[in-house]
Amino acid sequence: MVQSSAPVSPALVTRSRVGKRLSIVAPCFNEQEVLDLFFDRMETELAKLGLDYEIVCVNDGSRDHTLAVLLRRHQRDPRIKIINLARNFGKETALSAGLDAAAGDMVVPIDVDLQDPPELIGQFVEAWEKGADVAYGVRIDRSADSFLKRLTAQGFYRAFNRLSEVDLPYNAGDFRLMDRRVVDVIRQLPERNRFMKGLFAWVGFRQEPVPYARPERAAGSSSWRYWKLWNFALDGITSFSGAPIRVWSYIGLIAGLLAVAFAASIIVRTLLWGRDVPGYPSLMVVILMSFGLQMLAIGSLGEYVARIYQEVKGRPLYVVMDRYGFDAPGGEA
Ligand code: UDP
Ligand code: MG
Repeated sequence: MVQSSAPVSPALVTRSRVGKRLSIVAPCFNEQEVLDLFFDRMETELAKLGLDYEIVCVNDGSRDHTLAVLLRRHQRDPRIKIINLARNFGKETALSAGLDAAAGDMVVPIDVDLQDPPELIGQFVEAWEKGADVAYGVRIDRSADSFLKRLTAQGFYRAFNRLSEVDLPYNAGDFRLMDRRVVDVIRQLPERNRFMKGLFAWVGFRQEPVPYARPERAAGSSSWRYWKLWNFALDGITSFSGAPIRVWSYIGLIAGLLAVAFAASIIVRTLLWGRDVPGYPSLMVVILMSFGLQMLAIGSLGEYVARIYQEVKGRPLYVVMDRYGFDAPGGEA
C-alpha cells in the first residue's frame, strides 16, 4: 500500500532547506556523563545548517541524573525539549515516542553517546535537498566494536536478509534523516514490537546511504549486553519473517519420510534375514532427536504466540510521565 514512487528520477526532485524545520530525536538512558558534551557538539553543528531546529530528548527511565541535566539544558535553550517516560521502555520504544513528538519537516534519530557523529547531519540534509527521502549513515569501519560483536552482527544481517523480504542495508543503524512523509508512514505502523531498523527499511521511498566511520562511545557505557542483543535479533527476525515457524513443516515432512524409509528397510531385512537383536542405541538416538526437534518446533511456535499476544493486548507503546517544552506559551522557538 505505501510503496515508493520509484520511477521518479532523484535528479528531478530538488528541495530547499529554507524555512524548513529539523527535529533531532535523542533517546537517553543513563547518559548523565555524556549529555553536556552531546548538546555542545549538536549546537555547533546545527548552527552551521541554517535550519530552524528542535532537539527532542526522550528520557527512557534513566536511574541517574539524566533528567536533571536535560532540564538544565532545556531551561537554557527552549529548543531542547523533553519527553520523560514513566519507566525504561527500551531504545526502540523511546525512539517511537520521540518520533511521535517531533514536529519537523525532517527528522534525525541520533544516539547521545556521540557514536553517531553530528557532523554527518549536514550531509544528510544535502542528500535530502537532492531528493532523498531517507539519508542513512553506513558504518565503513566497525573497529570500535569487539570482534565478537562484529561477527554476531554480520551473522544477524545475513540471516535477516535471507529470511525476510525487506533487505536491511549492512552496517546501517538508526542514525538517518527522514522526510516528514516517511516519518508519518512509520508512525502509522500499528505494531507494538518495533524493530526500527526493519521498519525503516520496510517503508521504501528514495533511500540514500552516507558512509561514515563510527567512533567509540564518548563517555558512559553501553547498555547492550549479548543476551539483550540476542533478544533484539529474535524480535527483528520474527517480526519480519515467518520462516522460523514455517520451516518446521518441512523438517517434520523430512523426518516422517526418513521414518517410513527406515521402517521399510526393517521390514525387508526381517523378511530376508529374520530378526536380530534390536538396536537399543539407534532407538535412543531416534527418540532423543525427535524429542529435541519437537521442543525446538514448539519453542519457535511460542516465540510467535508470545508476540501475537503482545500485539493483541493493544496496550499503548509507552507511557509519558512529563513533557517539557512542547506546549509552553509562545513555545515555537
Ligand atoms: N537507550 C535508551 N534506552 C535503553 C537503552 C539505550 O534510550 O534502554 C539509548 C542510549 O541512551 C543511547 C542509545 O539508546 O542514546 C544507544 O545506546 P547504547 O550506546 O547503549 O547502544 P550501542 O551504541 O552500544 O548500540
Ligand atoms: Mg552507543
